[in-house]
Amino acid sequence: MTIIDQLHRPFRDLRISVTDRCNFRCRYCMPAEIYGERYQFLPKSALLTFEEITRLARVMVGLGAVKIRLTGGEPLVRQQIEKLVAQLAALDGVQDIALTTNGYLLPEKAQILREAGLGRVTVSLDSLDNTVFRAMNGERADVEKVLAGLEAAAQAGFGPIKVNTVVQRGVNDHTLVDLARFCKARGYIARFIEFMDVGTLNGWRMDHVVPAKEIVQRIHAEMPLEPVEANYRGEVARRYRYQDGQGEIGVIASVTQPFCGSCTRLRLSPEGSLYTCLFAAQGTDLRQPLREGASDEALAEIVRGIWQARADRYSELRTSMTGPREKVEMYHIGG
Ligand code: SAM
Ligand code: SF4
Ligand code: SF4
Repeated sequence: MTIIDQLHRPFRDLRISVTDRCNFRCRYCMPAEIYGERYQFLPKSALLTFEEITRLARVMVGLGAVKIRLTGGEPLVRQQIEKLVAQLAALDGVQDIALTTNGYLLPEKAQILREAGLGRVTVSLDSLDNTVFRAMNGERADVEKVLAGLEAAAQAGFGPIKVNTVVQRGVNDHTLVDLARFCKARGYIARFIEFMDVGTLNGWRMDHVVPAKEIVQRIHAEMPLEPVEANYRGEVARRYRYQDGQGEIGVIASVTQPFCGSCTRLRLSPEGSLYTCLFAAQGTDLRQPLREGASDEALAEIVRGIWQARADRYSELRTSMTGPREKVEMYHIGG
């Protein structure tokens, strides 16, 4: 079954944020001065259980979701996340289960996750320069730790591993060619993401964004690239391959070349709210009906209604909007 929204977009992808907690404090996502010792994260009772997540996922697969991505916060800090992976992998109709992680816990978890049925892993790494990286992650981890995580993922047999890099002018943009070279040598797909104005806490400014076009030019100047067709409709990354035939990169130009027209995603927060856009101010609570005994059909009806009413296209409208705006924080609904 396919459901279509107000802008004729089908529902295809479900992103599940399994926790609001994280072992990093990336400045652009959870700045340490705000998410300090005394910050109140969600209590365990507020989080959806794995059974509840799986039930909602089953309902959404029935409505057309074929891809599921686990994210967060940091998904690997949720205890025994592999059990959730196994439950989701057992659902009929799911073609792809992926996970986005900061990589810190991958040395312990990669093999277990693979055995549980996880298909793909994306590891976030903003720079190979340890000083730059530590400054960006709130002094929580060295590059070496993430490299060990990447190595563990490769050893566990995950398909082409993607490396996500958020590019910020004046912060890490001078190190992006090195990162591209490193990924190329190891067969990882480097994906450069324009710094986005998600949430309200990261002090975003347009002049901090390095446009995707410039990112591609800078890499192309050292290692020639050429554009490649998208793998499928709705692929957010624009792909380029190295002209020497050794690998490819992706750029996610959410700010300078928005792709709302092909956005097929719903996002489920750790406490069970459903969001139709990364920049939404509010979600719809599914936990209450779930815990009050709603049937699968009743839950499906709610989700269908949400999707069919959806008209979000924030990134396309960004530049025409003025004044401050309420938005959910990124760590709450995942990237
Ligand atoms: N903790 C995991 C991680 O870092 O991979 C998963 C959650 S994180 C919110 C998902 C992705 O969003 C990461 O690749 C992160 O770099 C990216 N991200 C966070 N804040 C961002 C921002 N303001 N602009 C662009 N990407 C951002
Ligand atoms: Fe944590 Fe990921 Fe946000 Fe960094 S980007 S603070 S690793 S959730
Ligand atoms: Fe999708 Fe919203 Fe991002 Fe547009 S701004 S691509 S609708 S999540």
